[in-house]
Amino acid sequence: MALALQTFSTVRDANAALKAPGTRYLGGGTLVVRAANEGDISVSDLVRSTDPTLSGITVAGGNVRIGASVTMAAIARHPELAALSKAARAVGGPAIRNMATVGGNLFAPAPYGDFAMVLLALDATVGTDDGELPVEDFLAKRDGSRAIVTSVAFTLPKAEDFRFLKVSRVKPKGVSVLSIAAVLEQARDGTVSSARIALGCMADRPMRARAAEKALIGSRLDQDGIAAALAAAGEGTSPITDPIASAWYRAEVLPVHLGRLLLT
Ligand SMILES: Cc1cc2nc3c(=O)[nH]c(=O)nc-3n(C[C@H](O)[C@H](O)[C@H](O)COP(=O)(O)OP(=O)(O)OC[C@H]3O[C@@H](n4cnc5c(N)ncnc54)[C@H](O)[C@@H]3O)c2cc1C
Repeated sequence: MALALQTFSTVRDANAALKAPGTRYLGGGTLVVRAANEGDISVSDLVRSTDPTLSGITVAGGNVRIGASVTMAAIARHPELAALSKAARAVGGPAIRNMATVGGNLFAPAPYGDFAMVLLALDATVGTDDGELPVEDFLAKRDGSRAIVTSVAFTLPKAEDFRFLKVSRVKPKGVSVLSIAAVLEQARDGTVSSARIALGCMADRPMRARAAEKALIGSRLDQDGIAAALAAAGEGTSPITDPIASAWYRAEVLPVHLGRLLLT
């Protein structure tokens, strides 16, 4: 079956076209076109928008807005997003990063979604024509979502407060065994004053490690200080099993890698 491609100059018109059955929004196409090539016949029409608002990156006063069509490659090379370049470079190889968009990453099922996981740690908001939603709420509802994501927005963390780690078996561009991002603020005495930790592959989509976050507050980032957080890291998780690793393995190694991340 041939796939039709409809291009609209505004998000509004593209959203209207997506109301028709068999349509799907096209970001960079790394997942949706691959699925079609592999025989997914649920999609007959791909819809895309060339609206310029989808392609911009603005950084002003520490506030970042990234259009949904911005690619991982563009984020990785943006001078003011240096804190996030490691995370953007962790998505696939160069060819994938040249096509893979921020918007598409929000919909990518585990073991994908490494950048969406970072956005969860950053407490980002997700924009559509209907307004903005916290990324956590967006991820929870994404399966029923038909609206085009237009942008993501967040406050840029201080470089020393942001940590990211992706564990993979195939180097340098394999998919995640697991990935972790954290924004950790420390008080003057060195204890953790606020913590947001997000996990990839520990469920079908990025999730917060709330019990570990709670256990870190008031603790120092040393072996003793992080022990309770590591013990609680797996709470509420439901890791995926895929050809890369079993759920059991992912659960076993989560505290090991979280420990390494917290002690760096
Ligand atoms: C070989 C290979 C390696 C990969 N490695 C990684 C990896 O290491 N880490 C990782 O995170 N991912 C990886 N991916 C998955 C994928 O490339 C990325 O997740 C990418 O960011 C998806 O974005 P896309 O623009 O290509 O999405 P598309 O394929 O265009 O779309 C994916 C889904 O999102 C929807 N969508 C896309 N954009 C929007 C929007 N703006 N609004 C509403 N819906 C939208 C589409 O309708 C579709 O349902 C890999 C993929 C391949 C093929």
